[in-house]
Amino acid sequence: TVAPQPIPAVAGASLRVPLVTGGEIGYANLDHAASAPCLDAVRTAVDEFLPWYASVHRGAGFASQVSTRLYERTRDILRRFVDARGTDTVVFTRNTTDSFNLLARALPQNTSVVVFDTEHHAALLPWRGRNVRRVRLPRTRLAAVSIVDEALAGCPQGPRLVVVTGASNVTGELLPVAEIAAVARKHGARIALDAAQLAPHRRISLRELDVDYVALSGHKLYAPFGAGALIGRADWLRAATPYLAGGGATKLVTEEAVVWNSGPERHEAGSPNTVGVYALGVACEQLAARWDAVGEHEAELLERLRKGLAGIPGCAELRLFDAPVDRVGTVSFVVDGFEPGWLAAVLSAEYGIGVRDGAFCAHVATKRLIGVAGGDGQQAVRVSLGLGSTAEHVDRLVLALRQIAARGARWQYEKVDGRWAP
Ligand code: PMP
Repeated sequence: TVAPQPIPAVAGASLRVPLVTGGEIGYANLDHAASAPCLDAVRTAVDEFLPWYASVHRGAGFASQVSTRLYERTRDILRRFVDARGTDTVVFTRNTTDSFNLLARALPQNTSVVVFDTEHHAALLPWRGRNVRRVRLPRTRLAAVSIVDEALAGCPQGPRLVVVTGASNVTGELLPVAEIAAVARKHGARIALDAAQLAPHRRISLRELDVDYVALSGHKLYAPFGAGALIGRADWLRAATPYLAGGGATKLVTEEAVVWNSGPERHEAGSPNTVGVYALGVACEQLAARWDAVGEHEAELLERLRKGLAGIPGCAELRLFDAPVDRVGTVSFVVDGFEPGWLAAVLSAEYGIGVRDGAFCAHVATKRLIGVAGGDGQQAVRVSLGLGSTAEHVDRLVLALRQIAARGARWQYEKVDGRWAP
């Protein structure tokens, strides 16, 4: 018999937080979709690397050589992590937002962009100045594919790009990426995948999906903040003006002219986030070695969570699609009669549970889906599961919501600078 794979351990597993009602409790971090806790293995690797980091690409010393090697090796790790084509380039960025802004800058001038209006603002907004077709996301996956087909058919001649998220940061539902990619291909368009929410939970294959670009963030992938990547077709990036102008992006600068690099360094001017990039690579290796265990862990907890929420009076879950679809462990909901910001404050102060409330940088999606769910607000509560989540966290949340729905909070709350506080 083969022993079941363990899931990678996270560094924040033993954090304790104070309760307003007295004492302290183990922190239930149910906000992985915002930023995931660092993996233990990432923390150890970074700790070992810290004394060694030095200037990348510039120094001749041994530490510089080590740093450069680890930095460049991470490009290969990321290429494998998303199963990129051999010709794809990996540009290190700060995060998904930065990756899409870089891609927007690299689009040929007359590119048309097709994007669902329910996308995260990082995928919705960077295309300003292009011919942008925002399409309303329909309530079935099939219709979503057709609407992209229609929108592409209506675009003027010239390059076209479809931008779509792999998993919604509001509902966790998966979009039909492979089907949309096939439609894009039919029209000779390219497709960019927002993998900020998908990459921490599922194996991605650019080749199998037939996707041209993917953007992701280290801080959602169990590595610390500040490093992300844009991976994909090299030609537009090679031809574009550098995203950042400065040292490292140039081959040669004379009194009269600048010759820019043509590789990924073209867009990476300035001293890079060597530690962040290294950490991102370690996190990706850890996840890639254990997808089965990660998937099982999250699926079990998601089922437990959804069953629990279904028993809370007045609780309505937000969903993009009418029929159930494959999804990662992110669930947004409203509870009739309770303001989301207030609920989130009570969960934190009285139960030691961290969730997110608001419109999740996807204002169109959140407002519309609350309407579909039967609410009339613009904000919701979001619970998002990951490797730092346990059954106890989920059970504590469900019990807390049941108690709050039945008898309110134990403490008094007031709004301070727009946020509820005990
Ligand atoms: N896309 C999605 C789907 C996201 O959830 C997020 C982060 N909330 C982003 C893009 C932007 O990621 P970052 O803030 O790391 O740039």
